Amino acid sequence: MKIAIIGAGFGALAAAYDLSKSGQNEIELIEANEVVGGLSASFKEPNWEWSFEEHYHHAFDTDKQLKNFLEDLGLREQLVYKRAKSSTLYNGQIYQIDSPLSLLKFKEISLFSRLRTGAVLAFLKILPNGVILEKFKASRFLKLTMGQQAWEVIWEPLFTSKFGRFRDEVNLSWFWARVNPRTAALGYFNGGFGHLAEVIQQKLEDKGVKFTLATKVTAIKKNGEFFILDLLDKNNLKTTKQYDLVISTLASPIFARLIDLPELKKDHLVGLGAMTLLLRLKKKLLKDGTYWLNVNEKNWPFVAIVEHDNYISNIHYDGESLVYIGRYLETSEKDYQKTASQLLADYKSFIEKIDPNFMDNLIDFRLAKAPFAQPISFVDQSRFLPKFNTSIKKLYWVCMQHIYPFDRGINHAVAAGRKLAAHVRIENSDNL
Ligand SMILES: Cc1cc2nc3c(=O)[nH]c(=O)nc-3n(C[C@H](O)[C@H](O)[C@H](O)COP(=O)(O)OP(=O)(O)OC[C@H]3O[C@@H](n4cnc5c(N)ncnc54)[C@H](O)[C@@H]3O)c2cc1C
Repeated sequence: MKIAIIGAGFGALAAAYDLSKSGQNEIELIEANEVVGGLSASFKEPNWEWSFEEHYHHAFDTDKQLKNFLEDLGLREQLVYKRAKSSTLYNGQIYQIDSPLSLLKFKEISLFSRLRTGAVLAFLKILPNGVILEKFKASRFLKLTMGQQAWEVIWEPLFTSKFGRFRDEVNLSWFWARVNPRTAALGYFNGGFGHLAEVIQQKLEDKGVKFTLATKVTAIKKNGEFFILDLLDKNNLKTTKQYDLVISTLASPIFARLIDLPELKKDHLVGLGAMTLLLRLKKKLLKDGTYWLNVNEKNWPFVAIVEHDNYISNIHYDGESLVYIGRYLETSEKDYQKTASQLLADYKSFIEKIDPNFMDNLIDFRLAKAPFAQPISFVDQSRFLPKFNTSIKKLYWVCMQHIYPFDRGINHAVAAGRKLAAHVRIENSDNL
């Protein structure tokens, strides 16, 4: 059977891995980007030993599906875990808040608020399945249980910068999914997650799977029993190709540009994009050793500063300090059109509050944009979840909107990709 998989992120790679096991299928991954890895795609400067993700990435110790997949690939021991410091910037001060004890020491909220916050977090940590919480709006629940002060200081800035106008719509299951699986130890693949994707690509190519990179699918059409895909390569060359079965790994608004399907237009399938500005610096920005800094300052234009070299040694990047500045917004917002230089100009005065001399240390900077990076989980979201089957037979769909209540993650993309492959095999057992 001739199978096209649209996209080459971790969902697509995992699905291709399982579908290629029988050795009977002709599988082709068609990817718009020049490299595999999807949202975890990486780039490498000539002086670096390791490649580096366009957007910040780490795994959690609870990422069982990723670990199992790496085990199957013979790569498990290359996913290495270590503790990384997480802090919060509030009122011009950096506070380490990444354990019950450090939360207890956070004097910007009252002791009673700290105790209430700790109790709610502990409850969410032990609750095994958070979907039952989807009836509650997270903002309302957190204000009621942790108190107004904890909401305003700790959580409101996060919800505002992550969800914008949807801030008060997000359900409590999302918050559970953010708290429950998190571990103090974070995992990183030796060489980077983009490197991991390339290693998987090589393994798949060895098994006969084809990769067509730097090629965009612009339309999916049905012609009798077959699918015709319109393709556009980086030289603007248009071609068409025919397949028996198609799997899309694109989020609904992107998938909807290729084919008109009612299931892609649901009001509940919305999300925000991400803009990640990467700074290559001669010296560290976060000198206290913080890897992940939540920005809880009012009216700052970004939500997080992530200093990669406070987690992974900069020996792999020729001694450079690599710092991500992360932000979420709707693609319809004017700022989403901004260039790297325009964003740096917007951010400069804020970053200078952390290090007045950071511009002197700047080697270079670059911007990565992701049009769909943060799905919104509304109240009762599980009633509106997309299915693997679309309304067209043999056109399947898996993406980060399928992994509810989690919103994204390599672990969940792998799990969903493998689940989809099993589903496709069952439904097409005569031919696969
Ligand atoms: C800012 C940010 C931070 C993240 N941090 C983490 C983290 O710390 N840990 C973690 O585990 N995960 C993280 N993720 C998520 C992670 O990258 C997963 O890979 C992602 O959730 C989804 O993978 P996927 O395979 O489902 O889709 P994607 O990775 O989105 O893959 C879809 C692919 O389809 C391609 N495509 C789009 N349109 C077309 C077209 N028309 N034709 C052909 N190809 C097309 C895209 O180029 C892309 O490669 C982060 C993501 C972002 C944006």
